[in-house]
Amino acid sequence: MTPRRALLLLPLATPALAQPRPVFVASFSILGDLVRRVAGDAAEVRTIAGPEVDAHHFQPRPSHAEALLGASHAFQNGWGFDDWFTRLARGAGGNARLVTVSEGLTPRPVAARGHSHGGQDPHAWQDVSAARHYLRRIAQATGLDASAQDARLGELDAWVRAEIARVPEARRVVVTSHDAFGWFSAAYGVRFLAPQGVSTSAEPSAQQVAALIRQLRAGGIRALFMENLTNPATLRRVAAEAGVEIMGRLYADALSPPDGPAADYEAMMRHNVSLLVRGMLA
Ligand code: ZN
Repeated sequence: MTPRRALLLLPLATPALAQPRPVFVASFSILGDLVRRVAGDAAEVRTIAGPEVDAHHFQPRPSHAEALLGASHAFQNGWGFDDWFTRLARGAGGNARLVTVSEGLTPRPVAARGHSHGGQDPHAWQDVSAARHYLRRIAQATGLDASAQDARLGELDAWVRAEIARVPEARRVVVTSHDAFGWFSAAYGVRFLAPQGVSTSAEPSAQQVAALIRQLRAGGIRALFMENLTNPATLRRVAAEAGVEIMGRLYADALSPPDGPAADYEAMMRHNVSLLVRGMLA
């Protein structure tokens, strides 16, 4: 470091009587919001794959490694969703403690659909009780208290159940573009049919698409939804051939920008469930 650079840094260093806040880094936007809920004002929270960014296939740049410098904790989802983050956090040269928030949950296998990649379904946050597990993992790792946020999500979970209960059981069937709702399905008793696999890159075969269209027609299903990160081409074809309209856009793997309908975890769940219920009752 040259003397000139040292002088430039001096004004920043001297007035800092207050301790700098610790830095927590999260791999993707939904987890970033959960970390923020626990951290409150106690830490600076940075998110690598931001709103509307697909974390399944994220490719970090050197600037993303910089975000981890000086971090005390690095949070990832696990189960193959954000493996790139493991490499990023370990390679950043810092000494952030790497925390996998899904650890301790009983994994759910990816729904077998012939073209699945095997392994675990990573989309646990779509089940609010699993998101509460995430909160507890974050609290344990940081020594912070998550009880107020946990209670909040407890209320959210009860609201989701009450909303779904409005739909007769036989009508709880929905079509979306990728298998991101296995956890939601298991928790809340809604069946999801998807022409695409669990990862956003898997392409459905012609037979799979045809089978889905037959299922839609036979079941009189009108609840057809796009997702924020998935190419809607196949879903549009399914909708057109089955004579059904796409009813809106679900947020599966990333939040919306702050001015959108899914700016944080709670808003995302409320947006998704409201849309799903409207579609299933249509
Ligand atoms: Zn996904």
